[in-house]
Amino acid sequence: MEYPTLEADCGLSMMFDHHLDFRSDTAAWPSAEMRAAMAEAPVGDDVFGEDPTVIRLQERLAEMLGMEAALYVPSGTMANVIAARLHCRPGEEIIVEADSHLCHYEQAGYAQLSGLAARTVPGDRGVMRLGQIEGMIRPGDVHFARTRLVWLENTHNRGGGKVLPYETVESICGWAREHGLKTHLDGARLFNAVVASGIEAPRWTRHFDTVNVCFSKGLGAPVGSALAGSRADIEEARRHRKVLGGGMRQAGVIAAAALWALEHNIPRLAEDHANARRLADALGGIEALEPTAERFDTNLVFFRVDPSWGTAAALVERLAGRGVRMIATGPRTVRASLHLDIRPEDVDRAVEILGAVIAEGPP
Ligand SMILES: *Cc1c(COP(=O)(O)O)cnc(C)c1O
Repeated sequence: MEYPTLEADCGLSMMFDHHLDFRSDTAAWPSAEMRAAMAEAPVGDDVFGEDPTVIRLQERLAEMLGMEAALYVPSGTMANVIAARLHCRPGEEIIVEADSHLCHYEQAGYAQLSGLAARTVPGDRGVMRLGQIEGMIRPGDVHFARTRLVWLENTHNRGGGKVLPYETVESICGWAREHGLKTHLDGARLFNAVVASGIEAPRWTRHFDTVNVCFSKGLGAPVGSALAGSRADIEEARRHRKVLGGGMRQAGVIAAAALWALEHNIPRLAEDHANARRLADALGGIEALEPTAERFDTNLVFFRVDPSWGTAAALVERLAGRGVRMIATGPRTVRASLHLDIRPEDVDRAVEILGAVIAEGPP
């Protein structure tokens, strides 16, 4: 069977070279082998729990994470909404790092959809310390929201793809358990943390009641995330998924891509990390771009644009005009994400174009 390739002659790929799309690791496209697995997937109706490929994916992921069960969902955002609703009732509160994906990029869904509050704690590159949160459990008094859930993110996106220090996770989650709080890990990029740290997934996940992982980022699947936890929690999560509109029918067609990614695309995340290092090292040699070597651990590279040159938005616009796509995450900050469709030579090409755009001078 023939599948369209990256070089396919369609309008979009003519406008932009997909290999120079650094905006997000969601820009990783399904490969021909992954598409073949999708085409051949046995299917059923997943709302009735009868799709064999979805069932296999959920069982395989649960086994890899060392958790009892998992649920396939359309997006990481939905996995996070479900996790918050599983653990908390309206009027309850989540302790979470201030720069987390939950607080930045999910429209305060915990408040809109679930009636919850977030108690935010500023971390260092996304890492909160136990000492910062120890006093945060509110007393059982009618004035206060009830403290219910501790929320961590690993790797931490806005922390620069930061791998949380293992001892920090251990101490915070141990403290949470001791005090009867629930724990959730937003592990959209957990496998990046596994590959970068050499610490196996079950050692990370054992500290949490629930864990979310994303298939459509660096793992290269076109759609989907999963929420893992105890059998009872995942049974309940299925109800939440349905009311949020996430019940899917012959979802095996897309679950097959996630399954393929789990089996093939995890060890190769190390290549993305090496390419991130390659990019960060080269950026250090470009005047007006601040060296970033200490600002990344995995596949996300953040760098600062010197005010004498211009804003991050201006740089991103000029780059796009030359076919390189990155995103501005702040007035002076640009993020470049590495993923499976970006090869070392693409990094070099992007660096060359970045250097040229900077040398042309301020916009
Ligand atoms: C991308 C991401 C999500 C949300 O995933 P979507 O599939 O885009 O909804 C949640 N958490 C983190 C850390 C992410 O990077």
